[in-house]
Amino acid sequence: MSDDHDDTLIAAQVRDFEAVLEEKGLIDASELDRALEAFTHRAKPANGFRVVARAWVDDDFRAKLLEDANAALPEIGLSMGGGLQPQVLHVVENTESVHNVVVCTLCSCYPIALLGPSPTWYKSTAYRSKVVSHPREVLEQFGLTLQDDTEIRVWDANAESRYMVLPRRPANTGDLSEADLAAKVTRNGLIGTAAL
Ligand code: FE
Repeated sequence: MSDDHDDTLIAAQVRDFEAVLEEKGLIDASELDRALEAFTHRAKPANGFRVVARAWVDDDFRAKLLEDANAALPEIGLSMGGGLQPQVLHVVENTESVHNVVVCTLCSCYPIALLGPSPTWYKSTAYRSKVVSHPREVLEQFGLTLQDDTEIRVWDANAESRYMVLPRRPANTGDLSEADLAAKVTRNGLIGTAAL
């Protein structure tokens, strides 16, 4: 239900719901606006880039991130909080033989806290339907050509579980600082539609 039409409908329903809560004195609209604004201000792809860079330089953090991402994030001052319900984050690691890619086949679930608002194509029916059945072709369309023997794993997000890809650290980056490493990561790399 992530077509623009449905999004508009949901937005209208949310506004109606807010109006009822406000009428009953259960919420203060300006307070809600402030909370939402603070969340969207914090939610940006640079958060995801920092997570990746730390995982590349710190093996303990990386292990914890892959094991229990929600528990690892606070170590660098981040969290999956801010939404209406708690979300479990799963970080999936690309290796020499495995490439991961994330989708929400049902709608458009996405780790907004770490990646900011999702790109339009992520919500498109074309991407959502095709990446599951023909991931290699879809990745080609993004300009990412994988070797024939690379296994592609497609992760389907939902209301409770969100996914983020941990890309492979590029070669010859041993002398780079964590900030310089973070600058190498792209949003699509975190979704899996780019190598990095
Ligand atoms: Fe969804």
